[in-house]
Amino acid sequence: MATFSPHNELNVYQAAEARFEIAAKMLGLEDGLYRYMRYPNKEITVYIPVMLDSGRLEVFTGYRVHHSIVRGPCKGGIRFAPDVTLDEVRALASEMTWKCAVVNIPFGGAKGGVICDPSKLSAGELERITRRYTAELSEWFGPERDVPAPDLGTNEQTMAWVMDTYSMHQRRTITAVVTGKPVEMGGSRGRREATGRGLLLVCDRALPRLGLSRDRARVVIQGFGNVGSVAASLMHQAGYCIVGVADIHGGLYNEKGFDVPKLENWVRQQGRPLPEFPGGGARMSAQEVLFQPCEIVLPAAIENQITRENARRLQARILCEGANGPTTAYADEELDRKGVFVIPDILANAGGVTVSYFEWVQDRQGLFWRESEVIQRLHDVMEQSFDEVVRYAETHSVSNRIAAYMLAIDRVAFVLKLRGIYA
Ligand code: NAD
Repeated sequence: MATFSPHNELNVYQAAEARFEIAAKMLGLEDGLYRYMRYPNKEITVYIPVMLDSGRLEVFTGYRVHHSIVRGPCKGGIRFAPDVTLDEVRALASEMTWKCAVVNIPFGGAKGGVICDPSKLSAGELERITRRYTAELSEWFGPERDVPAPDLGTNEQTMAWVMDTYSMHQRRTITAVVTGKPVEMGGSRGRREATGRGLLLVCDRALPRLGLSRDRARVVIQGFGNVGSVAASLMHQAGYCIVGVADIHGGLYNEKGFDVPKLENWVRQQGRPLPEFPGGGARMSAQEVLFQPCEIVLPAAIENQITRENARRLQARILCEGANGPTTAYADEELDRKGVFVIPDILANAGGVTVSYFEWVQDRQGLFWRESEVIQRLHDVMEQSFDEVVRYAETHSVSNRIAAYMLAIDRVAFVLKLRGIYA
């Protein structure tokens, strides 16, 4: 088995492997199955020629990695960012396999990315990149093959272009090829809020285990984008006190709690920098806010925020991971030692992929659900998954994170054994 080196603490692929290794060992996973699940099913690199608005021909590099199709078609976002690497896409694809298995939806994991900077490209250039990327991968995409979704740098509009391009190749409209689409063209009600709502649901479930209640739980949220701002609004409405917030411009801490609707208006509607919010609070860096007094800390921005160096400074009793990979594998040990109740990313932020699954189901049946029905179903999935992970952790005396991986790996291995190895 591969070893995890401290020099690679911030490498997301190494971190994903480290957790997989521990869980596989704890499960006593046989060597052949270990190798099967450790490596992706397929990795595709595409070179995307695009005519820029200036008339210059540019070639962008894109990836799509299928990690697993054992439990169903593979599912995962497409990321447009300048620092996309194959290693990163590979790591995120495997995390999607485990995430889908933790919430027990019938998908495997995939991920895609294009090396580009969306902030420097026009809408027309982004559309041409998306369409050519989709055309190059059209034989690998499909409702029964691989179902992409938005991720960093992509959005509902990108998914509309993917859906249209794929449909043009198939000579018919196939909405179920992507999720995270606009509601008007086959998207699901409740999808936009799903990840934030899932975070609220798992926090609600964790509180009584620690003798806490909503009105006695102070929450710090790092990241005020789609995930962080929705989590802040829903938690505020539910009676939690949001005492710390941060975005890329910096953080604010206010022990009396923020007026979240006003903050939301300032940042999201007016597009103003979060630290300049006139509603009070001490200014600090976006990372520092994580270490302020609170009961729940909810990183919902980027990876590698809680590390071996700083984990001992956390004051929260619950760490609920909204972002993917906000905690390094080396920080896990310190968090266990401190007795922090960790709700790991592959469970905590799985609300998004769960409602993506609902979107895929609705597209395929051609019948769309009320928002209340989507919320109720999400509620059921998140609560059941939370209970299963925590029970598994208690039964096997492991952390919640390792329990989530063990449960997921075990579910994939079980189906793999039933299916057998082809040829
Ligand atoms: P987003 O782009 O909408 O928002 C990101 C937020 O993080 C913004 O407020 C930005 O200002 C802030 N941010 C960026 N860099 C920062 C930094 N260095 N320090 C502090 N804040 C910083 O993205 P999102 O969709 O909210 O996703 C956030 C995280 O959640 C990502 O890790 C993503 O992979 C993960 N996630 C998202 C979903 C989803 O449904 N959107 C689902 C699962 C996981």
